[in-house]
Amino acid sequence: MAKLNRRDLVDVDFFPCGCLVTTMDRKLLFANQYFREYLDWDPVSLIDQTINVVFSRASQLFCESFVIPTTMQHGRCSEILLYLLNARGEQVPMLANVRWAPNGTLTWVFVEADNRNKLLQKLETTRYALEEQRDQLDQMSRTDPLTGVANRRELEAVLERMFKEAERSDLPVSVLMMDVDKFKSINDSYGHDAGDRVLCRLAKVLQSVCRETDIVARLGGDEFVCVLHDTDLSGAQVLADRILSAVSKSADGPCAYTVSIGISGRTRLSSARSGDVLKFADKALYDAKVGGRDRTAAQWPAYTH
Ligand code: GH3
Ligand code: MG
Repeated sequence: MAKLNRRDLVDVDFFPCGCLVTTMDRKLLFANQYFREYLDWDPVSLIDQTINVVFSRASQLFCESFVIPTTMQHGRCSEILLYLLNARGEQVPMLANVRWAPNGTLTWVFVEADNRNKLLQKLETTRYALEEQRDQLDQMSRTDPLTGVANRRELEAVLERMFKEAERSDLPVSVLMMDVDKFKSINDSYGHDAGDRVLCRLAKVLQSVCRETDIVARLGGDEFVCVLHDTDLSGAQVLADRILSAVSKSADGPCAYTVSIGISGRTRLSSARSGDVLKFADKALYDAKVGGRDRTAAQWPAYTH
């Protein structure tokens, strides 16, 4: 085995980190030159003092309650953040490792925590930025970019959840499916941008009529859906009539428009699935169109257990 002689050993006095040796009752036996260079202490003046002279009050308490008991129990305590005091009484954050030696002394090694803290802060900032971006992307993936209401994907997810909840609590759920009447002619007469404004105005009308527990979604094109929580057919009919009247009030001026609305839903004790209800709402919408537009029609899945 290779034999080390004394010249091979780097003198601990000039280690690039703080080194202290204390007795078990925290009396300082040794402090290296690091304490002179970085903390302005005269290492010799520290000898025989308690280690508490180089610790902040909070770090003293932390040492008594955690660091010393851990070192006694496990022989070491690693990577703990302590606040050392320099000779001017200013606090300096340090990462400390403490080790118990069989001769009954404790060896304390300190490295500056600032760089690590800066790195941690940077990581934390990056994490927040990534979380924010993820939330924005998540929001975008669920929203129709033109009108700001839910898109088809979000509608399908929410509808599924609402139907499960309705089944558990045996509540009715109604679905209104609506489509702008002769929307192509609005685009053709006033331009695509004017058509876009009509779609945005309709989305606002639907949001103003529906409650917070309902959902308003754009299926695509000029087709929208409202899902009405805890609402039976008569409630859905009232809301659909309110939409027709709000649309006619909001649609004065050259781009006047109307909508047709198909109503469907699940009644209490029904086993209708969300997909079926959407199909029935679509059929009812077709009835409203065929019936002359600017009106409502309803179709309900057959009552089944
Ligand atoms: P109907 O009464 O039978 O519904 O007649 P319609 O002319 O409204 O017919 P339909 O609903 O099939 O037409 C939808 C039109 O909506 C077709 C398409 O040109 C237009 N459209 C689809 N998406 C957009 C959009 O994002 N903006 C605009 N301005 N127009 C769109
Ligand atoms: Mg249409």
